[in-house]
Amino acid sequence: MARGAQKEQARQKAQKEAAKRAGGVSQLGARAAGLQIKCPKCFSGMANYKLLVQHMEAKHPKDPIPDESTFAK
Ligand SMILES: [Zn+2]
Repeated sequence: MARGAQKEQARQKAQKEAAKRAGGVSQLGARAAGLQIKCPKCFSGMANYKLLVQHMEAKHPKDPIPDESTFAK
C-alpha cells in the first residue's frame, strides 16, 4: 500500500515537472497574472503597464497615460 502511494506521488511529481518543461505551468501563470491593468478609457484588460502604454498610444493618443504607480498592486 505504502509503495503504491509512493508510486502515485512520484507519478504526479513527474507529471508536474513534465508540464513545467512543456511550459504549461508558466503559461497558466502568465494567464492568471494577465489582464491586471485595465485601460481607463475603454476598460480593455492589459497584461502589464508596458502594454497599456502601447495601447494608450495606439487607441487613445489624445488621452494622458496614467502613471504606472496608479496600477500598483
Ligand atoms: Zn483603451
